[in-house]
Amino acid sequence: MQTITILGATGSIGLSTLDVIKRHPDKFHVYALTGNTNVLGMFELCQQFKPNIAVMADEVSAQKLHTQLQSVGSEVDVIAGTDGLLQVCSAPIVTTVMAGIVGAAGLLPSLTAAKHSKRILLANKEALVMSGDLFLSAVADNNAILLPVDSEHNAIFQAMPPSVQAGGNLKAAGVEKILLTGSGGPFLTKPLNEFSQITPEMAVAHPNWSMGAKISVDSATMMNKGLEFIEAKLLFNASFEQIDVVIHPQSIIHSMVSYSDGSVLAQMGQPDMRIPIAHTLTFPERIKSGVKPLDFTQLADFSFCSPDLSRFPNLGLALEASKVGQGATTVLNASNEIAVSHFLERDISFDNIVTLNELCLEQLGSSRPITLDDILELDQQTREVALGLITQL
Ligand code: NAD
Ligand code: MG
Repeated sequence: MQTITILGATGSIGLSTLDVIKRHPDKFHVYALTGNTNVLGMFELCQQFKPNIAVMADEVSAQKLHTQLQSVGSEVDVIAGTDGLLQVCSAPIVTTVMAGIVGAAGLLPSLTAAKHSKRILLANKEALVMSGDLFLSAVADNNAILLPVDSEHNAIFQAMPPSVQAGGNLKAAGVEKILLTGSGGPFLTKPLNEFSQITPEMAVAHPNWSMGAKISVDSATMMNKGLEFIEAKLLFNASFEQIDVVIHPQSIIHSMVSYSDGSVLAQMGQPDMRIPIAHTLTFPERIKSGVKPLDFTQLADFSFCSPDLSRFPNLGLALEASKVGQGATTVLNASNEIAVSHFLERDISFDNIVTLNELCLEQLGSSRPITLDDILELDQQTREVALGLITQL
């Protein structure tokens, strides 16, 4: 029996995780659920899953949830804030933490889970992109287990031999290339002269995946693939040259590994996050995820092409940042979070997401953060610079 904390329980990843978990009551005890300020969503989840603890982002939301739960006689404890998140990631009873918070807000809880030797199911790619080797060292030093939920990284993990799954060297295992696939998002063929008119509604309408707003916009700009390139480089200790991005609009192949003998192993499935979530929940055992198997006789042709960096300049920026180092990736992650949230608020145009990211990288990208405090300070500094720049765009 695993005892699990689900960070970001009210989000797309959190709800998919709970959907898998409820199919296996003999395997999982839900210890804690965390939401941001979504009181109604958390109330319903607490009623259904009866966790020991619910964590809200602030005292006001926590108080509202507590009052609602008391009115129906529920005994769920409600706590608040970052301290609350850290508490449910470090509690000795917890074996497993689903890192399903979006953005930098997920770093401290995920890092705490690593420091307390938990099994971490990592969806929150931003946490890894912003902290890189520091995060991986916390995992290694504390014998924590880190399993990738991001569908591409989960696919790569599944297509790797056990030696690499255990942290071994790619070359020694005969791995030539990681082929990181991406659909290209909703604007793969949109005329470039229409990009400045893209609205948040158009950007979040992903052709294949249903996801939270931030990652949907990142998929539309292909920053998501850029963040994933950085994530793959870190997770598999790969060089820049060992990873190729391949566009595969159908999202049936979730990524591939190419070996020195010419073999290419691909992981395939429906575009449904319950597959990688189920895989990480019980790896190396397999459980039912609720997803129907593929019917190959009903699939349209598979197609592939290279990404066009002039169409998706954010991907180019991320690739460059991955070469420069940790400072650049921390800055890019923070500036992109600010840019995307302001695009969603209609403060800036779709085109200006890359402008803002470029300007922040120019100003701060050569920083060299070493400690956690350095990283948090650079993240904060970038957000302030980005907010200042937005007023001038
Ligand atoms: P989402 O917006 O649907 O959900 C985010 C969750 O985080 C919510 O529960 C929200 O309450 C919580 N949250 C947001 N800000 C918070 C804060 N400041 N403090 C505490 N909690 C906060 O997002 P999502 O699509 O579920 O994505 C979650 C993470 O998983 C992201 O890092 C994303 O890149 C990654 N991911 C998602 C998918 C997907 O299919 N949705 C696929 C791969 C990776
Ligand atoms: Mg992905």
